[in-house]
Amino acid sequence: MTSYLKTTPDSDGFFGDYGGAELPPPLIPHFKEIREAYGKISKSAEFIRELRYIRKHFQGRPTPVSHFKNLSDICGGAQIYAKREDLNHTGAHKLNHCMGEALLAKYMGKTKLMAETGAGQHGVALATAAAYFGMECEIHMGEIDIEKEAPNVTRMKLLGATVVPVGFGGRSLKEAVDSAFQAYVPQADKALFAIGSVVGPHPFPMMVRDFQHVVGIEAREQFEEMTGDLPDIVAACVGGGSNAMGLFSGFIDEDDVALYGVEPMGTSSKLGDHAATITFGEDGDIHGFRTLVLKDDKGEPAPVHTVASGLDYPGVGPEHAHLHKTGRVTYTSANDKEAIDAFFALSRHEGIIPALESAHAVAFAMREAPKHPGKSILINLSGRGDKDIDYVVEKFGIGEAD
Ligand SMILES: *Cc1c(COP(=O)(O)O)cnc(C)c1O
Repeated sequence: MTSYLKTTPDSDGFFGDYGGAELPPPLIPHFKEIREAYGKISKSAEFIRELRYIRKHFQGRPTPVSHFKNLSDICGGAQIYAKREDLNHTGAHKLNHCMGEALLAKYMGKTKLMAETGAGQHGVALATAAAYFGMECEIHMGEIDIEKEAPNVTRMKLLGATVVPVGFGGRSLKEAVDSAFQAYVPQADKALFAIGSVVGPHPFPMMVRDFQHVVGIEAREQFEEMTGDLPDIVAACVGGGSNAMGLFSGFIDEDDVALYGVEPMGTSSKLGDHAATITFGEDGDIHGFRTLVLKDDKGEPAPVHTVASGLDYPGVGPEHAHLHKTGRVTYTSANDKEAIDAFFALSRHEGIIPALESAHAVAFAMREAPKHPGKSILINLSGRGDKDIDYVVEKFGIGEAD
């Protein structure tokens, strides 16, 4: 069996035509340092041992796979299963790569972690990792997002992070990235820049995938133990694409397992109303790497919308652009309404309130199940929805009783 993961990306960080590292000159030496350190350190027995210890004794891994029996009965057709990343410490999959990045920082002799954050989920996960390792943490966040996501700002501060408000331009994620990179350059001797998904310049798309690979390895073993077989369909929501790559990586060499990425279709298919980058994007460069990008008339990254702020990105991980091109993964979408319906259905029928991001994968499973009687669908429940309940209830009530 040829191992996809061992041969992709190539040594320059290209997944086929996508990926690489297009960096402003001041950042080049720092990314070279990260690339070389990661290549060496991540293979050492000591690093692997410590990461395993953290996963078990701090994060609470392995997270289970659950059979959604009630939901499967209601949908009719395929049996629906989920990998429960909502039960990972901090309530989402993001801590898997943040702990890995922080551990790398420790072995590199760094004392500080830096990043940008949009909705604040990455900032909270990174601040958690920094607290665990006793490191400083500096998170750049747009002023608009700070206002919208106040509880995550509070969490980051409680965890000891410094939140730097970004007040120029659109005062949101894109400006936060620029601001964080700018602040990083003069501090790069002591700080590691930690990217929050399988995006950014090489080696981050590969490194974040490697740290999320545990999700796919566990899920495969657990699913086989539960059912004696592999799933027929494996699906996950795609923003940057880290939770999807984690789950997919456990099955990517199995041609009989169909893989589906679920993009957010927002309120409509009109540019600006969605964040379905693979469905509608064009080849382009964003934040230092080549991928598919949603562009406006001027060729700049377009504004995006989805009810799930963690999926709100006009680019996508280069590996997803590649897997779309090769056809190994099929990319489809769920819109805001389907995600909200799935949010209510999973809460009511399975006792699990999902993150609105993860609800896109639940919506896919509910839509597909009736078409595949006798088959099985395994989704990634990437996070829990406690962060979303105030917003959902205010906008949509508490769901229909049935
Ligand atoms: C951030 C987030 C996502 C989206 O990120 P990916 O890199 O696409 O996985 C999905 N689910 C949850 C719960 C998140 O917090």
